[in-house]
Amino acid sequence: MDNTNFLLLILFLLICGVLHIFSKDINKKNINKIFINNSKKSTENFIEGHIDTYAIINNTNTILNNTSNIYLSSTEAYDNIERSNYINNFTKMDVKVRGCHNIRECKKVYKQNMIEFTDSEKAILEENVKVANEKIKILKNLYNVPWKFAKTTEKIDNGLPHTHLDTIYLSNLYFNNPSISTLIHEKIHLYQKSRPIQTYNLYKLYGYERINKTHDKMRRSNPDLDEYDYIKNGKVIYSVYKDNATKLTDIKLKNSYNGSYNNNHKNNDINNDINNLNPSHNEHPDEYFAYIITDKIMKGFSENDANLISYLKD
Ligand SMILES: [Zn+2]
Repeated sequence: MDNTNFLLLILFLLICGVLHIFSKDINKKNINKIFINNSKKSTENFIEGHIDTYAIINNTNTILNNTSNIYLSSTEAYDNIERSNYINNFTKMDVKVRGCHNIRECKKVYKQNMIEFTDSEKAILEENVKVANEKIKILKNLYNVPWKFAKTTEKIDNGLPHTHLDTIYLSNLYFNNPSISTLIHEKIHLYQKSRPIQTYNLYKLYGYERINKTHDKMRRSNPDLDEYDYIKNGKVIYSVYKDNATKLTDIKLKNSYNGSYNNNHKNNDINNDINNLNPSHNEHPDEYFAYIITDKIMKGFSENDANLISYLKD
């Protein structure tokens, strides 16, 4: 081997070495990038206490992407309710209004009344979601919450739309009169559940303070609400069943104000105030904000809504 060939060989080996190191570096960067994205996703959308929500998505047999809705099977739909602990926390009144005798019997009723969506129902939801997505696409974080649906018969919770963990439950009744507002309202509940810290920060801006839940044997369970009560203007409002309630909507508002909070009202004044409120809208800030945000998404936000927009977008 003469000198020129020897030098060329050394040069060739050097180039190979540099390329090898460079390619390793690129791989490392890509791996880091994936990790950054993953951790961002798990902290942003599924923060502490809601990790199981993320697992549920991964355990679903259906494919998750930005354009397809996710439809749970009847088994998945029931398992999701079990996981949420909803039925275990029923009061005696919750059990009675549902026409069962005890929690075990209620669970059986729930299990038997989870059903599958038909193809035509799925087609309706695909169309409705397209319209809803158009309305919320600028509210980036709300938009990014996956549309995940489960189907029940009308026997479950009076056929009313509701949510458990990360899933919207709809009954046959929805398809009699499909509604974009209903879908957006329920999606806001999913959003509230996936971002408890940001949600509480929003409520604080509107004068709410979080306190432990008041135990009341007449209280109506609502799967859309978090596990707290909120005090605002000296009032702690929640919904209780009316004395002869036979369905979930037979409710009235109650103020559990016990005199230990600062306020200038007398109890009678407070109760008079409550009588003028809508029980479905005002039982909890999760409902109040789901209603007002949906209304603004449908009709338009005003210039005073910067906090609401930022909550849904940033
Ligand atoms: Zn609601």
